Amino acid sequence: MRSTTILEMKDIDKSFGPNRILHSVNFSLDVGQVHALLGANGAGKSTLVKIISGVYALDAGRVFIGGEAVSITSPIAAKNLGISIIHQELSLVPEMTVAENIYLGKERSLGASGLFFARSKAISEAKKLMQQYGISLDPGKKIRDLSIGHQQVVEILKALSDQSRILIMDEPTATLTAGETHQLFAVIRHLKSLGIGIIYISHRLDEIQEICDYVTIMKDGRVTAKGDIADFSSERIIECMVGRQVGHYFPESDRRAKETVLELKDIRKGDVLSGVSLEIRKGEIVGIFGLLGAGQTELTKVMFGAESCDSGEIFLHGSKVDINSPAKAKKLGLALVTENRKDEGLVLELGSASNMALASMGKLARYGIKRDGEIKRMGDSYVQSLNIKLNSLSEPVRNLSGGNQQKVILGKWLYTDPEVILLNEPTRGIDIGARSEIYHLLSRLADKDKGILVASSDADEILGLCDRILVLFRGRVVVEFSRNTATEELLMEYASGAKDNKAVKEVAR
Ligand code: ADP
Ligand code: MG
Repeated sequence: MRSTTILEMKDIDKSFGPNRILHSVNFSLDVGQVHALLGANGAGKSTLVKIISGVYALDAGRVFIGGEAVSITSPIAAKNLGISIIHQELSLVPEMTVAENIYLGKERSLGASGLFFARSKAISEAKKLMQQYGISLDPGKKIRDLSIGHQQVVEILKALSDQSRILIMDEPTATLTAGETHQLFAVIRHLKSLGIGIIYISHRLDEIQEICDYVTIMKDGRVTAKGDIADFSSERIIECMVGRQVGHYFPESDRRAKETVLELKDIRKGDVLSGVSLEIRKGEIVGIFGLLGAGQTELTKVMFGAESCDSGEIFLHGSKVDINSPAKAKKLGLALVTENRKDEGLVLELGSASNMALASMGKLARYGIKRDGEIKRMGDSYVQSLNIKLNSLSEPVRNLSGGNQQKVILGKWLYTDPEVILLNEPTRGIDIGARSEIYHLLSRLADKDKGILVASSDADEILGLCDRILVLFRGRVVVEFSRNTATEELLMEYASGAKDNKAVKEVAR
């Protein structure tokens, strides 16, 4: 073992009932390392970190911390060994202040019997703590007044106040804006420089390549690869995750867009959309890049008739249309795939085939008594063409992974045979194997002359997937790029308002 190793796990086995989840997993973390733990949904990442953080007991194997054999029998034992986990769902008390949250349950460390007697002590200790870790937040502010990004920083401070040497982050940026992600990365870099080891679970390849030094990849409970992040291309990471050659992560495109199918003119809505004009042509994927809250969600909803706008016009094949409801949008040949799979896309208790049938009941009515047979045929065909992993067509979609749920939604809309497909954050929270499959599917649809619009705050996704890219800033399209002229820096500059945005056009067709 190297002297810089802080955590070493050897031959870890774990089963739940009859199911073997981890098979002889080896994992080691160095001092000051940001270590990406990757794998498709169900690979065993969370199970492994729950063993490290004392939530699950291991069946076999050994764990060493700083070279000494340890047994991590409970979350408290883990804390005492300097291990903290920051879960995706934050566990702060919204009505309490930053300082109170950090020292909640640790009143005795402040020399007081109750937190409320130690308020000022908590504030001064929190200030010291923040100074030590280069973080500036107001310790007297209530959690509910902080952004999600800052709340995450408070979670980290909470862990640091326990003198943690090992920090586990499970999808820390899933709900953060780009700006908040940058702040989080600055904190992570500082922790790294102090020698804290960080285990970083994420599905975002661009972020992993930016912030991580080392990677361990799992598939079906086994480690399939590990090494310096510099030695791993996106393609290689995915291959190790899915266990087969996948070709390119992003699809290639040599498409030429054809005539305009949908056109928006000067769409306005409150202070969210301030005059959006754009076109979607046949046979292209148009990207709308914007930071969270730039208006892309409202824009796609207005286009689909799910929300009304104050003014503006929409043209389909050159004729003005009034899209005043989703039913109307559907009739006109539009589909909307939303980011919010649970609330807007799926009926969780129903099976995949029934969910996919939902948007096409009119069409299915034609089948009369043969309807069930047609639903099954349709379900089977999309399960195959979209590579959806499930036990049966009637298994409730609640049981499927996020990536497979998103594919069911795609199947549902494809069955309506739309001409224009709108997608809002289509791959958020989806593992990178399934992401790549969705990108390739969208590309094939564009090759077949569908018009596709993808709204996303993931620059990597927009750059890799789209033929034409519009940047939305405060409800306005401020710039347009072709596939070849956009870079991540340019997108960020425009999306954050850093560039002068007076109707700049950098179109290179
Ligand atoms: P990941 O975090 O990589 O998505 P998990 O570690 O959550 O994967 O899950 C790995 C496998 O273990 C999955 O098949 C999951 O269903 C199973 N599993 C996880 N936790 C439990 C549990 N408490 N009981 C039974 N099975 C579980
Ligand atoms: Mg997990």
